[in-house]
Amino acid sequence: MSSSAILLSPDAVAQQAKKLAQAPLTEVLRWAFETFGSGAAIGTSFQGAGLVMIHHAVTAGLALPVFTLDTGLLFEESVQLKARLEVFFGIPLESVHPEISLEQQAAEFGPELWTKRPDTCCQLRKVEPLKERLKTLSVWITGVRQEQSSTRSGAGILERYLFDPLLEQYILKLNPMTAWGRDAVWEYIHKHGIPYNPLNDRGYRSIGCQPCTRPAGEDGSERAGRWTGFDKTECGIHTFLNAAK
Ligand code: SF4
Repeated sequence: MSSSAILLSPDAVAQQAKKLAQAPLTEVLRWAFETFGSGAAIGTSFQGAGLVMIHHAVTAGLALPVFTLDTGLLFEESVQLKARLEVFFGIPLESVHPEISLEQQAAEFGPELWTKRPDTCCQLRKVEPLKERLKTLSVWITGVRQEQSSTRSGAGILERYLFDPLLEQYILKLNPMTAWGRDAVWEYIHKHGIPYNPLNDRGYRSIGCQPCTRPAGEDGSERAGRWTGFDKTECGIHTFLNAAK
């Protein structure tokens, strides 16, 4: 089902968002599954909120596809976590890869592009592959939470989202975790024994690619430790960088 096959009007989105804001997480996911089937998918990097959503979906018998972006630069712990989660949840977890290999990227842009032009690197290894996956969907389900950062504080539970400004392509972005706090997420994970990234126990708060992620240190913000040394807090998948810089 293409993203344009079922796309609610702006008014319908606003009305539906009001209803969903009152609903428990399982019912929000059920609405997505029963309305859009496999045209709705959870996109996650297997951090706290994504794990909670997958657990709710699997427990309720909702066969929502789950995908993750594999940049080729993930921590080994993150790669191993995906395999552990497939066993734990008993479902396949799809990896979405960039078209361009690391070798091709180095040949075209120079070595370690992330140290010089991280926006371009994120565009090539995250944003473009995600766009290709979103073109096959009607609903993108994310684990965005409002308290994560100022760039996420205005996220609504259901949004009509322009994911490709150049081609004017929209998708419905469902953010069922917007109101969840970090403590509630981790309480749920521990209560249900869900496998999680061991780096979380070693001072990492937000875990992305290995070259661009550091332990959070004294900075208590949820996105601390990402792109240290750059004026950058988002890879672009939730803000969609329009073009490689
Ligand atoms: S997070 Fe870093 S390594 Fe990963 S795609 Fe972005 S710039 Fe490249």
